[in-house]
Amino acid sequence: MKLVYSDQYDLNLGNHVFPSIKYRLIKEKVLRDRIFSPEDFEEPPPASDEDVALVHHREYIRKLQAGKLSYLEIMRLEIPYSPELVRAVWLSAGGSILAGRLALQDGLCVNVGGGFHHAYPDHGEGFCVLNDIAIGIRKLQKDKAIERAMTVDCDVHQGNGTAAIFAGDHSVFTLSIHQENNYPYPKPPSTLDINLRDGVEDAEYLHELENGLDSALREFQPDLIVYVAGADPYQNDQLGGLKLSLEGLERRDRLVFEKARTKNIPVSVSLAGGYARRVEDTVQIHTSTMRIAKEFAS
Ligand SMILES: [Zn+2]
Repeated sequence: MKLVYSDQYDLNLGNHVFPSIKYRLIKEKVLRDRIFSPEDFEEPPPASDEDVALVHHREYIRKLQAGKLSYLEIMRLEIPYSPELVRAVWLSAGGSILAGRLALQDGLCVNVGGGFHHAYPDHGEGFCVLNDIAIGIRKLQKDKAIERAMTVDCDVHQGNGTAAIFAGDHSVFTLSIHQENNYPYPKPPSTLDINLRDGVEDAEYLHELENGLDSALREFQPDLIVYVAGADPYQNDQLGGLKLSLEGLERRDRLVFEKARTKNIPVSVSLAGGYARRVEDTVQIHTSTMRIAKEFAS
C-alpha cells in the first residue's frame, strides 16, 4: 500500500491550534516504527486549476492565487493566508486525486494530509481552503475511473462543505458522523448525518457508526469510499466534545475498513482534523489508522 505525502503539506503555522507539523511527525513516526519504508511514499503533483474548478468557483480560485481574499474571507479560514498555504492546499488536492487512483489500483491508499471537508465552492472556512475530498471524487468521475463514491466522514465536526457540494447529486453518498453541538453551524444535510450528543463514548459511537455504514451500503453501492479519518473525536481533543479512547478510534478504523472489504470497495483515506492537547496523541491516532489500513491492504 502506498502513502501520498509532501513535505510541503506543513504550513509552518507555529503555535496555531491546527498542528500542521503533524504531517511531518507522522511520516517520521511510521518510518521510525518501521510500519512503512521511504519507498512507500509517493509525492503528489499539485492539482491543476482545471481539477480544482471541478468543485470551486473560478473567482475564488483567482482570489486565492492572486492573494486577493478579503479580510473577512481570511478570518473565516481561521488560518493565516500565505503563498505557502496556497501551494499546500493545491498539493493536498493533488494528493487526494492520487490517493483515489492508487486506492482503485491497490484497494487502499492513505493521503497523509487532506480531509478539508469545511471548504465550499466559493469560500473556505474552519482551516479548510480547498475541498480535496470533493476534488478527488469529481476528478475520478471525470476520468471515468469511478461512477459513484461514498464519503465516510468520521471527523468530530460535520462535513458541511462536502455535504453542500454533493447535495442533490445521486452519484455521491455523503455520510457524516459527528458531534451535533459543535462547529459548523448550520449543518447542510449530508445524505446521512449521524448527530451525536456531547460526551459519547466508544461503545455508543461504534454502534451508531456500524448502523450507519450498514444502512448506507444497503442502499448505495459506491466504486470508492473516501474515508475522512479525523483524529478529533478523541477524548483529549481541544476542539471536540466526544469521548473516544485511542482503542475506540482504532476500532472505528477497523470497522470502516471491514465494511468496505466485505463489499470489495476500495478505500482512499484522508486525515482531516486532530487537535489533541498533546500533538503526540494526534500523531498516534493518525499513524494507527495507517497501520490498520496496511493490515487490510495485505
Ligand atoms: Zn474536525
